[in-house]
Amino acid sequence: MAEKFMNYIDGRWCPADSGEWFENRNPADWDEIVGLFPKSGKSDVDRAVKAAHDAYKEWRLVPAPERGAMLKKAGDIMVERKDELAKNMTREMGKVLAETLGDVQEGIDTFYYAAVEGRRLFSHTAPSELRDKMNLSFRMPIGVAGLITPWNFPMAIPCWKTLPALVCGNTVVFKPASDTPLTATTMVEILLDAGIPPGVINIVHGGGGAVGTSIVDHPDISLISFTGSSLVGKEINSRAGAQLKRISLELGGKNAQIVMDDGDLELALEGVLWGAFGTTGQRCTATSRLILHEAIHDRFVDMLLKAVDNLRVGNGLDTSNNVGPVVNQGQVETVHGYVEIGKSEGADMICGGRQLTDGDHAKGWFYAPTVFTGVTQEMRIFQEEIFGPVLSVVKVKDFDEAVTVHNDCIYGLSSSIYTRNVNHAMRAVRDLEAGITYINGPTIGAECHMPFGGVKQTGNGHREGGWPVYEFYSEIKTVYIDYSGKLQRAQIDNY
Ligand code: NAD
Repeated sequence: MAEKFMNYIDGRWCPADSGEWFENRNPADWDEIVGLFPKSGKSDVDRAVKAAHDAYKEWRLVPAPERGAMLKKAGDIMVERKDELAKNMTREMGKVLAETLGDVQEGIDTFYYAAVEGRRLFSHTAPSELRDKMNLSFRMPIGVAGLITPWNFPMAIPCWKTLPALVCGNTVVFKPASDTPLTATTMVEILLDAGIPPGVINIVHGGGGAVGTSIVDHPDISLISFTGSSLVGKEINSRAGAQLKRISLELGGKNAQIVMDDGDLELALEGVLWGAFGTTGQRCTATSRLILHEAIHDRFVDMLLKAVDNLRVGNGLDTSNNVGPVVNQGQVETVHGYVEIGKSEGADMICGGRQLTDGDHAKGWFYAPTVFTGVTQEMRIFQEEIFGPVLSVVKVKDFDEAVTVHNDCIYGLSSSIYTRNVNHAMRAVRDLEAGITYINGPTIGAECHMPFGGVKQTGNGHREGGWPVYEFYSEIKTVYIDYSGKLQRAQIDNY
């Protein structure tokens, strides 16, 4: 019988009120059930929100440096548990061990960064218009934060949200993706071991429909931070927006790497392999479009084809593999559906295009890394997020066309250009419509102390990571202190 894991609500590990469970299976080996998790619903969310609401009264008064010190301790615990966490993450969502170790490290970095922010949380002071009067502003907590996360960065993304929420003095109701409940549960365990009090953090497992919408709709949740698909993000925006909640949305991407005729082709090749096929292409920042200057197009495609042929697809726990499985059956079907669309649109599929079912692949959701050339801007494989190991190659005649092609997209998360021409590099920084631009690096590689997020339909303008996320999780209180001993009327007595 598989191990059962619980929700954590109001300082207690507990099953769902329904008494039902859902399975978490290894996408590289269906026979392995990683665990059973509570299939929760509205009543579980209601209890969690009440606990978080009650705990907020005291947690908001704990000095931020003290809250930060708990996060520092949690980071230390996570360092000790790093290997175990990475292995479990590979078991539950498939990406290769080097990447799950990186994902946990991003969590650790975020703990240490949040701990330091607990000593900062800067706001402004400014001179008063009047004598003997002082003007200040402070960052105040907001209340209960509802956090909803996807499965592709099972530790990094929950940490990006939970830790700034806590250090700013909010309490949390957290719903992780049902493909990665184990990593999320361990993050909560670590927070508790570091001394986070009962009720301050609550985790409720289950589906988006039952648990997610109950969080979004709950009137005692003041802010919602969501990372996931644009479709769900738009629904959350309208539901939570109707209650005037504060909402942060980090949504889809269709990121492109540009390679110019003066670029370092070997470096650009390493970049695109990592950007397109790392995490089996299931990153919001995945390189899913490759824009090649016509002078190097044919040579680069040849190099790419050879390199893709050498990628080893298999169980991510085997460190000789480069690419793990796709996360689940639904995602394999989506990926294959797009491959069929690409073929019917007239693009040339030069490799891949099929599910792998032989030998070691027989019990997992493996898909061959796939490349299309001859892709044009009107094609759906150029425009739509696929979220799998599929790369669309477009040929352009010069830098200006590369920028135009790059920007012809509803999304704008990450972008990349390989060039040795400093003018092109600087223009790319200015003109590529994306929240992130890499010069001579792939579309991925965020660092936790820098703002992360996108433009256009990738989100609603907020950022995860870096200093701006602390602005999202706090509200400004403006304070005027008059020490003149008399009534001073601004805009009247001083004019
Ligand atoms: P998803 O939108 O299907 O699910 C994300 C989360 O929302 C899950 O926890 C899910 O259970 C929950 N959910 C589903 N329906 C809901 C609803 N109606 N109300 C409330 N919650 C609901 O996305 P996914 O498949 O888990 O993740 C892949 C998507 O996430 C891709 O589009 C990817 O680009 C995006 N993503 C974006 C970023 C970013 O920072 N921009 C990072 C990672 C992933």
